[in-house]
Amino acid sequence: MHELLRGDWHVHSTFSDDAVSSLEENVAAAAAAGLTALRCVDHVRASTTWVPELVAAIDALQVPEVLAVRSGIEAKILDVDGRIDMPPGVVLGAGGIDAVLLADHQVPSPDGPWSPRATIEALQGGLPPRTVVDWILEATTRAAHRVAGHGQIAHPFSILPKIGLDEDAIDDERLVWWAEELATAAALVEVNEKWACPGPRALRALTAAGARVVASTDSHVASDVGRYDRVVGLLQGVRR
Ligand SMILES: [Zn+2]
Ligand SMILES: [Zn+2]
Repeated sequence: MHELLRGDWHVHSTFSDDAVSSLEENVAAAAAAGLTALRCVDHVRASTTWVPELVAAIDALQVPEVLAVRSGIEAKILDVDGRIDMPPGVVLGAGGIDAVLLADHQVPSPDGPWSPRATIEALQGGLPPRTVVDWILEATTRAAHRVAGHGQIAHPFSILPKIGLDEDAIDDERLVWWAEELATAAALVEVNEKWACPGPRALRALTAAGARVVASTDSHVASDVGRYDRVVGLLQGVRR
């Protein structure tokens, strides 16, 4: 088994309104799956008020010694400047949240988040795909620098298929730049089971840049914790 598959760095609990398992159920599932690392993560917006409760609940978990549990919040990248849709004043690091998962849930345009539908319309209207790809690359790296040392890139490039593009739209030079910026910002970068991304080419660029890649299921139910299939294929693709 690939060493990365012994961790699951993106697991949702009932603090997220679209997830069904408790923190305790996720820890039990991670232990049963033989994992050594688990990140408990929930969705936030700028208006979210329960982050201290999440931190306290994770701190209070009874965890087997072999399993390291970390905390996280998942937030949307808002715009090309890398602003993040997270509550102001969240403590990162000791006594707070370990990581901010930076998510491409919308397209981070210069004037704020664009839905996939609005982006497709703009592309059909003549906006060059390269411009949109550059927004995503710039926004992601800037967001990572904003939370340097505490960033984790959630499902990188999951937005591309939603707007009719794929990772082939990113040229090699830009991909290398993106990977090196993420390494400089000490961001972790997911290879994500739910969205089957990023692809082997991006994973190779990350490894070459010295960025740390971690595996994640993006589980919303405990029975999915630590269960990999598509990630196995992506990692095998890197070796080819
Ligand atoms: Zn997400
Ligand atoms: Zn998620």
